[in-house]
Amino acid sequence: MAEDPVRELQDLVGALNDWLRFQRRLGRAGVRREAGPPAAAPAAAPSERPTLAQVREELGDCRRCKLSQGRTNIVFGQGSPQARLMFVGEGPGAEEDAQGLPFVGEAGRLLNNMLNKLGLQREEVYIANVVKCRPPGNRDPEADEVAACLPFLRRQVESIRPRVLVALGRVAAHALLETNTPLTRLRGQWQHFGKVPLMPTFHPSYLLRFPRERHKTWEDMQRVMKELVSHEDH
Ligand code: SF4
Repeated sequence: MAEDPVRELQDLVGALNDWLRFQRRLGRAGVRREAGPPAAAPAAAPSERPTLAQVREELGDCRRCKLSQGRTNIVFGQGSPQARLMFVGEGPGAEEDAQGLPFVGEAGRLLNNMLNKLGLQREEVYIANVVKCRPPGNRDPEADEVAACLPFLRRQVESIRPRVLVALGRVAAHALLETNTPLTRLRGQWQHFGKVPLMPTFHPSYLLRFPRERHKTWEDMQRVMKELVSHEDH
């Protein structure tokens, strides 16, 4: 199954069929969500739902943790404010720090390819990180840094109200789920971040180093697509 191109093609066709069905239910070829809260959204009064611009303003020229000292840019996040699907990585790397955008390096290109295979454009999803400033030497963010930055990611989720979250990699999965369970045990299993279904999977950087594992993330994304479609069926 893992390296079977026929199976992979079948999976791809299945995913595309699901996606086309999903789009037909929207009544158009575009995939942006129409106005109104999604069925699975966290219950919150309209006044409690911030706009992304408000969250960005709250963040300001953030100095709440020591990662501010080495950053070039705050990498707030990128994508549709109405995204159904939101990805969360661990933190900016060198290219992301330089450009102020998430997932713009080689790992970002792999993520883009995966999205395209699923019939999605990057502009339709939202991509953010657990910490918004680059950790020195690309080390893992430390607990105090995650604690300082996570409230703003939580606010972004409150604003966007995605139907599904995908945690890319161990650091994101552990931060969002507040667990130390190995990613190899978490991935492929539905979890929740608040009320939002969350799928942990491998980080694209890991998949660049271990391409034979890519089929696992592909399988996880099939689950994500099915979950997205199931929301449209209700
Ligand atoms: S990582 Fe987050 S909390 Fe720390 S300085 Fe940057 S924006 Fe602020």
